[in-house]
Amino acid sequence: GATIGILGGGQLGRMLSVAAARLGLRTHIYEPGANPPAADVAHAVTTADYTDTDALRAFAQSVDLVTYEFENIPTAALDTVEAIVPIHPNRRALGTSQDRLTEKTFLQELGLTVAPFADVTDAAALEAAIAQIGTPAILKTRRFGYDGKGQARLTSPDDAASALDSLAGAPAVLEGFVSFTAEISVIAARNPQGDIACYDPGENVHRDGILHTTTVPANIPARLRTDAVLLAARILNALDYVGVMGVELFVTPQGLIVNEIAPRVHNSGHWTQNGCTVDQFEQHIRAIAGWPLGDGSRHTDITMENLIGDDMDRVPDLAKDPKCALHLYGKADTKPGRKMGHVNRVTG
Ligand code: ATP
Ligand code: MG
Ligand code: MG
Repeated sequence: GATIGILGGGQLGRMLSVAAARLGLRTHIYEPGANPPAADVAHAVTTADYTDTDALRAFAQSVDLVTYEFENIPTAALDTVEAIVPIHPNRRALGTSQDRLTEKTFLQELGLTVAPFADVTDAAALEAAIAQIGTPAILKTRRFGYDGKGQARLTSPDDAASALDSLAGAPAVLEGFVSFTAEISVIAARNPQGDIACYDPGENVHRDGILHTTTVPANIPARLRTDAVLLAARILNALDYVGVMGVELFVTPQGLIVNEIAPRVHNSGHWTQNGCTVDQFEQHIRAIAGWPLGDGSRHTDITMENLIGDDMDRVPDLAKDPKCALHLYGKADTKPGRKMGHVNRVTG
């Protein structure tokens, strides 16, 4: 069978490796950090930095194709790998989603609705952006933000200076605050043949900027469920996308607003492990390996809950609950805010 290279050895790389193994495929993980969660289950692991060109070349030569489990891979590393093997999802999809300004511009040009936004390079640009967008608003770094990091909320124009300071001069975008009634996400997949399969949209609740729960079905009208799936398909087609993508949406009385896209398997798709015949991890492997896609239909109602930091103390009780499927990442040290595992509670 083929060997799939995965850039990044976190929990997503771990669950992708398990899915690949179930299909008789091997994975080779590339991860700078020691003891990555994916190392336990992958066939091979390279521990080296993204600046180590020799290690990247050797990694690329040992695999048939490369995918990734996070967005912030240095461009030079991708160039080195891509000179040797194909990367899925493609560089355009990755580049577009790495930068919030590029991402929002792309989505807007596709005809989709995004929150009002403006480029913020300095204090004067922020002042102009506030004049244009108003407050409340959120200032977000263009790159490297996740779990709500690299963001500052402005309740009034007086917050401008402190918001800018908190981002330490990083290029940013100002976004108008969306008063949404719910947050949902679509996990969508596309293969090289152009087939698309979407999972049922899940409803997401965040706590302290981090995903807390995803519930399926989302409590939204059927009309919006269709809108969500169709707009996700439009994004994948526009990018000639191959693999699984997470599309985060705000539900408002005026319809759906796209928050952001993630060119990879997504935390809000973990429910598929116990709700679908083919879960998002297998779906991603199928897509990038050119296999037929699973259809994405859901056989039960589920709530996924992230187990973060001390939530691990609840594992013995959760393990006694016959409605709960535990997925633990094997991380040695518990830290506040660190994703240690998740639990899928079947409610249907
Ligand atoms: P992720 O971990 O999902 O990649 P992130 O750090 O990229 O998160 P966002 O998804 O942009 O951050 O924002 C995190 C959360 O903050 C959103 O899910 C939403 O709850 C809230 N939020 C972000 N932007 C807005 C907005 N313009 N209006 C209202 N709420 C927002
Ligand atoms: Mg994000
Ligand atoms: Mg997000």
